Amino acid sequence: MRKLAFYGKGGIGKSTTQQNTAAAMAYFYDKNIFIHGCDPKADSTRLILGGKPQETLMDVLREEGAEKVTNDKVIKTGYKDIRCVESGGPEPGVGCAGRGVITAIDLMETNGAYTDDLDFVFFDVLGDVVCGGFAMPIREGKAQEVYIVASGEMMAIYAANNICKGLLKYAEQSGVRLGGLICNSRNVDREREFLEEYTSAIGTQMIHFVPRDNIVQKAEFNKKTVVEYDPEENQAHEYAELARKIMENQHFVIPQPLTMDQLEAMVVKYGIGD
Ligand code: ADP
Ligand code: MG
Repeated sequence: MRKLAFYGKGGIGKSTTQQNTAAAMAYFYDKNIFIHGCDPKADSTRLILGGKPQETLMDVLREEGAEKVTNDKVIKTGYKDIRCVESGGPEPGVGCAGRGVITAIDLMETNGAYTDDLDFVFFDVLGDVVCGGFAMPIREGKAQEVYIVASGEMMAIYAANNICKGLLKYAEQSGVRLGGLICNSRNVDREREFLEEYTSAIGTQMIHFVPRDNIVQKAEFNKKTVVEYDPEENQAHEYAELARKIMENQHFVIPQPLTMDQLEAMVVKYGIGD
């Protein structure tokens, strides 16, 4: 079993990319998958579950107590038997969402939810927050591999670089490694070139370039991944490629994040943010 975490700026496409990759692993390669959503928004598994309402683990815990947090109650099975849980979060404005992530993963471990028959467990972690509870999957070795989702936009790269700083800090103690950066394209000029240069500068790889395609929204409107909506679509094959590259990945590193000056020089070179 391999445990993966996806990090990246909010709205960059973590949940979409992750669910499509998971669906591609299951559909094209017959893999057993578990997705653990760690975003208080609890929208990490919606496309796999076809919009089926899912009670979050934190809701059950708060309303019914820890003994009611059973696997039967909080784990839902969706497309291709992909198992899904959502941590959820505290009531907005009350309490620390990061703590919820820790509690949820601990409870799932206690319950033996990550069973041996699984090929992959995905943690979909909120935004670019690498502090407190959100760093937990990488700090305590809950995930062994991290993939950063980014684009050629400036803020996405700043976020990616900050995540790398977090990884650098925790890598020795937890053993977590960076498996690569996934470009989720925003059709920015020279995006591929920029991300190739950035990833090689920090010692990693751009594992795949995922094109921007409206079929993603169309499938999402139907509460499905593209892979389920139409596996013949070109975009479904892009996710299959990403899935294959992750399955075959051998390139795991402790990244060397850029300094602010280096990063700004690169941004200027590519004319990003003009
Ligand atoms: P995150 O989980 O990082 O906050 P989401 O996965 O929710 O981001 O993605 C935000 C929006 O971007 C989604 O509504 C999705 O439809 C859209 N999106 C993501 N990837 C693509 C893509 N490759 N092509 C087109 N739209 C995309
Ligand atoms: Mg998300």
